[in-house]
Amino acid sequence: MRTVDEHLAAILAAVRPLTPLDLALLEAEGTILAEPVAAPVPLPPFDNSAMDGYAVVAADVAGATEQTPVTLPVVGDVAAGDTGVSAIASGMCTRIMTGAPVPAGADAVVPVEWTDGGIVSVRIDRSVPPGHYIRRAGEDVAEGQVVLEPGVRLGAPQIGMLAAVGRARVRVRPRPRVVVLSTGDELREPGSPLAPGQIWDSNSFMITAAVHEAGGVGFRHSALVDAPEKVLAALREQLTRADAVITTGGVSMGARDVVKEALAGTLTFTKVAMRPGKPQGFGLLDGVPVFTLPGNPVSAYVSFQVFVRPALRAMQGLPPEPPSAGTAVLAEPVRSPRGLRHYLRGRLTGGGAVTPASAQGSHQMGALAAADALIVVPEEREHMAAGEEVEIWRLP
Ligand code: AMP
Ligand code: MG
Repeated sequence: MRTVDEHLAAILAAVRPLTPLDLALLEAEGTILAEPVAAPVPLPPFDNSAMDGYAVVAADVAGATEQTPVTLPVVGDVAAGDTGVSAIASGMCTRIMTGAPVPAGADAVVPVEWTDGGIVSVRIDRSVPPGHYIRRAGEDVAEGQVVLEPGVRLGAPQIGMLAAVGRARVRVRPRPRVVVLSTGDELREPGSPLAPGQIWDSNSFMITAAVHEAGGVGFRHSALVDAPEKVLAALREQLTRADAVITTGGVSMGARDVVKEALAGTLTFTKVAMRPGKPQGFGLLDGVPVFTLPGNPVSAYVSFQVFVRPALRAMQGLPPEPPSAGTAVLAEPVRSPRGLRHYLRGRLTGGGAVTPASAQGSHQMGALAAADALIVVPEEREHMAAGEEVEIWRLP
């Protein structure tokens, strides 16, 4: 039997980061940046107004109050997008809109709320210090500054940043394309009726969603019947569009272990010292990593988080980590099989405690769906007491 760490190490030794490619900005959403991005210009690129109001020489309105307002002639009107804005001199002002370039000569903006809003001339009721309500060129980002480092995931703010520095395309590691196939004669599509002995296929939906959570693109294939030649044919057909393939079911010790039959000799099938998820298979098929996970839904899910997620991260050039790990205090004692790393389903409660689910069967989706953490009990522990600190993984 392999340890969890040995099996994970074998997987990580076999997977490679995907080759970076240039994508249009919106296609790059959710991918991992593969180049440093610097600003070719300062941001903002020019001094501009932070308010709708009047661009003035601050010294002209130094004494302005409601009792002693200052009235200035309005010599112009500057809107965002105006080019060729004329300079002003002391004793005059111009109306200005948010984002409009500040005219040369002006050194402050008086918000419209502090004035009578005049168009030909304006009465100003408050003084402003020099620089007031002016957004200075470069105060956000300096010219040449690196705004995004390689390795960041491009979420909405990062996509916005790229656009703000003028980038239309960007070099990224793409989302791994992952084909998800389930196997089992008993499986039916959700939405279709069940005959006695049949169940709805949950694994392929759950694992496809998990692929997305891990940064990949999942392609779900409808369930395959338990016939090794059909499984092999479907796998080969899917390989062309896949950076990785995940199957579920058909890898344990029964009579219908089709995935094992189909891929024996190509993949390595092993028992891994863990619960749930003992029967595992992994290998390269025509150079494509293939993960064969066990069929019980909780086993498939835990196996995904333990082995597949780190591999998908490595393919994106990210540290091959499990979901966000931490510690919590056990609210109840737990038992654990000797020699196996045990991933129990639990719920985090206030105050840093975690309550193990009472249903810990590998078929018990109810407990998994209600869980927000896995509790990781090390191999050498057969029981842990309430109040003990334990490793937990927050579920994505
Ligand atoms: P197997 O490893 O194929 O023997 O499957 C083990 C258990 O998991 C059996 O009870 C199967 O019915 C169940 N199972 C396998 N695949 C799925 C699936 N895609 N969705 C839900 N349950 C499944
Ligand atoms: Mg099966």
